[in-house]
Amino acid sequence: MTRAWNFSAGPAMLPTAVMERIAEELPDTNGSGMSAMEMSHRGTAFQAIAQATEADLRDLLDVPDDYRVLFLQGGATALFATLPLNLANGSGRADYIHSGHWSGKAIAEARRYCRVNVAGDCEPRGFSRVPEAGEYRMDPAADYVHITPNETIHGLRFPELPETGGRPLVADYSSAILSEPLDVRDYGLIYAGAQKNIGPAGLCLVIVRDDLLTGAREDTPSLMDLRAQAQAGSMLNTPPTFAWYVAGLVFQWLKEQGGLAVMAERNRVKAGLLYQAIDDSDFYRNPVAAECRSLMNVPFFLADPQLEGRFKQEAAEAGLLNLGGHRAIGGLRASIYNAMPLEGVKALVGFMNDFERRYG
Ligand SMILES: *Cc1c(COP(=O)(O)O)cnc(C)c1O
Repeated sequence: MTRAWNFSAGPAMLPTAVMERIAEELPDTNGSGMSAMEMSHRGTAFQAIAQATEADLRDLLDVPDDYRVLFLQGGATALFATLPLNLANGSGRADYIHSGHWSGKAIAEARRYCRVNVAGDCEPRGFSRVPEAGEYRMDPAADYVHITPNETIHGLRFPELPETGGRPLVADYSSAILSEPLDVRDYGLIYAGAQKNIGPAGLCLVIVRDDLLTGAREDTPSLMDLRAQAQAGSMLNTPPTFAWYVAGLVFQWLKEQGGLAVMAERNRVKAGLLYQAIDDSDFYRNPVAAECRSLMNVPFFLADPQLEGRFKQEAAEAGLLNLGGHRAIGGLRASIYNAMPLEGVKALVGFMNDFERRYG
């Protein structure tokens, strides 16, 4: 068996140690005589897994006691609707920062349920940097402010959070959660689809401050009612138990690595190496302003786009997979989440240098 270097944006690589542990305990998890995927979600064996998973996450992110942790279905996309249904119940208005593809999706969905004010728009600058502090045009009556701290497709991150004037900041953290420490108190609600930096697809992590769980609009599907889910321990119906279990193994692995400060340092080194390789050449290019560059998703373009197909093909032959950019913007992209070791990034940089020598 060989494991390739998988640069997919999601579902993405998981730590090999976690894969090996899953394989080892698959038929008999924690002495239960069952796999986690065969356990009743209401039984003691799975309840123990669910509780340990939440406890480890709380440890890693230092989640304060007045925040609830939910493990929901429907991915981050379900939250695009869940948010306005639960949070836009004051003025019925919400501020959204448009910083790339995913915030665009969040805005389009929110518009079906509330009035959206686009309080900052990175599109006129080609999503090459986030707004500066004075550029936001907030609606002071909006019920919440939504940002996408890391835009997975455009490779754009917020070096600083916008000032919300006390209104809850809501963040789609799908592609950067657990990549570095964050202060949960800066947010009213954080959500993240699991398949980038947490575990298998099928799960969406939500961390929400208690006082925001006031109940959803009356016509909200009960599965999308955050207060009802919190009261039911995220088990209004059968949750994605296997994904939940694997997320727990990833959290344990992160703690064994030394926690999020250690991961952040590793991630800075990995991303630094890759951006350096891009900036040192005229053959590759990344359009994002230096301070806004994502540490997780590194899009890059070839001076000669005709060579992209060849790049992807030869990279795949060298065991470097899924380097195609998202169909929305094209080009190439390397996603280098927690599970991608430095060795994988070095292999990519070596390949890029070699490819440039041959075709540059
Ligand atoms: C991948 C991604 C999504 C979509 O996630 P799903 O779980 O497929 O719904 C949303 N937002 C961001 C920032 C993402 O990276």
